[in-house]
Amino acid sequence: MKLCRFNDNRLGLVEGDHLLDVTSALDALPAYRYPLPTNDPLIANLDMLRPRILEAAKTAKKVPLAGVTLLSPVANAGKIVAAPVNYQAHYDEAEVDPGIRFGKDIVKIQTIGLFLKATSSIQGASHGVVLNHADRRNDHEIELVAIIGKSARNVSVESALDYVAGYCIGLDMTVRGVEERSMRKSIDTYSVMGPWMVTADEMGDPHDLDLVLTVNGEPRQKNNTGNLLVKVRELISWASTYYTLQPGDLFMTGTPDGVGPVVPGDVIDARIDRIGSMQVKVRAA
Ligand code: MN
Repeated sequence: MKLCRFNDNRLGLVEGDHLLDVTSALDALPAYRYPLPTNDPLIANLDMLRPRILEAAKTAKKVPLAGVTLLSPVANAGKIVAAPVNYQAHYDEAEVDPGIRFGKDIVKIQTIGLFLKATSSIQGASHGVVLNHADRRNDHEIELVAIIGKSARNVSVESALDYVAGYCIGLDMTVRGVEERSMRKSIDTYSVMGPWMVTADEMGDPHDLDLVLTVNGEPRQKNNTGNLLVKVRELISWASTYYTLQPGDLFMTGTPDGVGPVVPGDVIDARIDRIGSMQVKVRAA
């Protein structure tokens, strides 16, 4: 199933060019008191909610997708785990482009490991990207995002995908420069998540998906998740040997070649097989 969050925190079941408003299913979520859980309650309770969502859909209001404000499909991610330079073609372009490298060595992901982005950078597709440090180069990076569905610690590569609730498209927006990735990539709105999540049962194997990104219709990025250097299941297994993964944690699995700058007024179109596409506007601060 395709689930979106829209307008004022409503829940939608996406079908074609419209959604069914199944917000009433959220009434089944537990009420929380301080201290709040360090996970995303919707994702953590997805198995329990699934029949309620389908039940609510039977009598749900049909709403055209074109008219709604799409929010991040995950409201309360505990962390964003991100993979640096995880496609060989992006490694190759980063090595030769001083505007990407900034004098640094491009270190292989197997050596440098993963990094974290601030969850405050998460934004939905409709809000758009608000450029920060607009005098510097701000790049788009399309990435497949895996959404963790249950607590995972020291999980094997073979079982890692069992811990995935679903997938969405991510834009790992980046201001280029010499600073740490976690700083340059954690700017407000620099982690666009959307347009909705597709549950893992509907996605199947995430390792044969085309990713395509255009800016104002001009082709920029095109590759396939089959070319990931460290596969999704390996990323999850590896990360889980460092920190416990929680429902709603987001994995940005890395961007392929073709990264490039955006400026205010640009419209990014990002699409991934079996998920769909999202249009994201770039604005000045
Ligand atoms: Mn990235």
